[in-house]
Amino acid sequence: MTALAALLRRRIGLTGPMTLADYMADCLLHPEHGYYTRQDPLGAAGDFTTAPEISQIFGEVLGLCLAQSWLDHGAPSPFTLAEPGPGRGTLMADIWRATRGVGGFHAAARLHLVEASPVLRDQQAARLSRLPVTWHDTLDGLPEDRPLFLIANEFIDALPIRQFQRDPQGWREVVLGLKDGALSPALTDPAPLADLDHRLADTEPGDVVELCPAAKPVMQALSSRILARGGAAIIIDYGGWRSTGDTFQALENHAYADPFAHPGRADLTAHVDFEALARHAAPLNHSALTDQRALLAALGIAQRAEVLARNLTGAALENHVKAFHRLTDASEMGTLFKALALVAPGSPLPPGFAPFTTETTP
Ligand code: SAH
Repeated sequence: MTALAALLRRRIGLTGPMTLADYMADCLLHPEHGYYTRQDPLGAAGDFTTAPEISQIFGEVLGLCLAQSWLDHGAPSPFTLAEPGPGRGTLMADIWRATRGVGGFHAAARLHLVEASPVLRDQQAARLSRLPVTWHDTLDGLPEDRPLFLIANEFIDALPIRQFQRDPQGWREVVLGLKDGALSPALTDPAPLADLDHRLADTEPGDVVELCPAAKPVMQALSSRILARGGAAIIIDYGGWRSTGDTFQALENHAYADPFAHPGRADLTAHVDFEALARHAAPLNHSALTDQRALLAALGIAQRAEVLARNLTGAALENHVKAFHRLTDASEMGTLFKALALVAPGSPLPPGFAPFTTETTP
């Protein structure tokens, strides 16, 4: 049994069942035993890998996308270049390198990272050592007096979720209790829930939906800044336009695991409900939700991959081609991952994103 499992059992024994959100928050960010607090979970030796860790071309084309958006907004100076959940700092390093030729961009950018894990903050500091970076615990710390250009990759999926099952009498919440002394999921009695009233029309008894309460302050913080001073936000993650079904999952050593088996030892995530993000960010305008594959293609990833390939041979070339397919193929990350852009009403969307219409949004 992990040390965290013992703590959680004791707490549930004393104060009763806990929501999945409370469980997830402790598993990921407990100051002593949390998954992200203790270690760097990324890369081949970790539990999972991410697009920027797979290939530099991901960050390069997205960096140019952000820089073009900055130009389209009149090249404001200074502006905040922000990334919540920057992992090892790889995406920001690639964005920075790719944008060095964009006149004035580096001089105007003020780098702000939002990171909860001390271990990963150290890695980001090492990776971005030549750049002046300011760290924050939450997005509320981001400057309010200048435009904000923000990118988040696989950040929202790490935010704690609550899970509900539709019932003829309302909603039953999935909570974590004890069964024979072990952590075990259970359902509360049904009750109406105002936050899920908008799902009564498209669900039936037995259906499972998820809510991510922590996403609201995140989206409101970026929305208020972009609304007041301009800018754009790009959110990339796995998920869809509406939360449906149980997507709560655990990854340990690159394999799916039981999310309740080893609290604090596995990465816990849920699919992102992009419709909820767009609602929380109102009155910002949002793009159509686009597949990662379509976005990267529109941003010229194939051309960039080709240029890089010219200098590669043998195993390095093979790995490069494999990485390209991993990012873009429908059977890999290409369609599971989606991207959403948000801008103030009347501002141009970043390149690669189409306007939202109900017909085109999956
Ligand atoms: N964006 C990176 C890393 C994704 S992993 C990449 O694509 O490689 C998730 C990241 O979010 C980690 O850096 C993790 O420490 C951070 N994180 C998770 N929950 C957080 C929270 N509530 N507040 C701030 N950072 C958080």
